[in-house]
Amino acid sequence: MIQLNNGVNMPLLGFGVFQITDHDLCKQSVLTALQTGYRLLDTAACYGNERAVGDAIRESGIERDDVFVTSKVWIQDAGYEKTRTSFEKTLENLQTDYLDLYLIHMPYGDYHGRWRAMEELYRAEKIRAIGVCNFLPDRLIDLILSHDVVPAVNQVELHPFCQQRSLRQVMEAYRIVPMAWAPFAEGQHGLFTDPVLTAIGSPYGKSPAQVVLRWLQQKQIVAIPKSVHAERIQQNFDVDDFALSPADMVQIDALDLGHSLILDVPSLNEVYRLHAIRFEP
Ligand code: NAP
Repeated sequence: MIQLNNGVNMPLLGFGVFQITDHDLCKQSVLTALQTGYRLLDTAACYGNERAVGDAIRESGIERDDVFVTSKVWIQDAGYEKTRTSFEKTLENLQTDYLDLYLIHMPYGDYHGRWRAMEELYRAEKIRAIGVCNFLPDRLIDLILSHDVVPAVNQVELHPFCQQRSLRQVMEAYRIVPMAWAPFAEGQHGLFTDPVLTAIGSPYGKSPAQVVLRWLQQKQIVAIPKSVHAERIQQNFDVDDFALSPADMVQIDALDLGHSLILDVPSLNEVYRLHAIRFEP
């Protein structure tokens, strides 16, 4: 568990469901994750699978209060009014009357209006913590200086090849918890066969994926790996029975390339591409 800047406790390891668009596959994957022991789920309005996540929670028989549920509002729902409507739809899909964490998905569009709506929902105790995704230092500080509630979390691309060091320094000053999306870099840059990660894991009998998750955990960074395979869902959860040495940590720190591999947030191409994505609520 990690404590957020408003006192709420959040699991350090969770399960992400990006790109699991088939309802039954998503529901089954989330059920497997819950049965394995995961208690943090990460979905988003634009993933189109909030209902499958809600169905899985219900079918698992686990009490709603024992699962930390995160979702996000997409760019098309920028602004105050649309955020309120999108939030209601998210609750309906997830079959719950509150969220543990609600995030602005992208730092584009009227994110100030979005944040005002989220602050209201937070004060009304419909959301236990609010945060952002993909906010780099300039927009993060702009948001903080313009509003009352400091984001509890910033979910960003974060893995051994993109460690977000300068952003994390800014976040630390405001006690904003880093949440790593794509902790495996979505398999890019040969992460699952990387020789350094393989050699570090070998004496512990652990895979590169497990080494990465343990490295994040030891840095107090929340991780939300995704998989649709039961054995990988289990493997990614089995990271509590070993500890990386300081020398291991230094070696992984040295893998940083200092730039994103998946989403270059300020790039013009990305801004145009992401603005064009529309989904059916
Ligand atoms: P990821 O977790 O880095 O990688 C997922 C990929 O790794 C899948 O292809 C999966 O394959 C494979 N995999 C998982 N465990 C493995 C293992 N132990 N060994 C080998 N391969 C393994 O990428 P991600 O799904 O993009 O990121 C994780 C979560 O972050 C998402 O699901 C989503 O919740 C969140 N996210 C947020 C944003 C944002 O903008 N806020 C952006 C992207 C993602 P299989 O499924 O076939 O097993």
